[in-house]
Amino acid sequence: MENIHICCPKCHWEPDGQPYWQCVCGTRWDTFSTGARCPGCGKVWEYTRCPELPGGCNEWSQHLAWYHGLDDMVMQMLDEVREQKQVKANK
Ligand SMILES: [Zn+2]
Ligand SMILES: [Zn+2]
Repeated sequence: MENIHICCPKCHWEPDGQPYWQCVCGTRWDTFSTGARCPGCGKVWEYTRCPELPGGCNEWSQHLAWYHGLDDMVMQMLDEVREQKQVKANK
């Protein structure tokens, strides 16, 4: 898991651990410390906005799209699942 690099998929701004995100319940926190889950109300944010103030682009992106290095791993897992399905289908 060390190869995972977190940055905005649109402008490549990197989160610096500060609580730039605010939930509809009023909680402010670092969304990457909880995997986009609000520590106040438990809401999971599928999309994460790039904060404009520290140098981001203010655009929304899928939370998972911020994790780079994860893609290869996920793709590999999906390939394996697909291969297993094919093996079953061929029997
Ligand atoms: Zn909340
Ligand atoms: Zn951005």
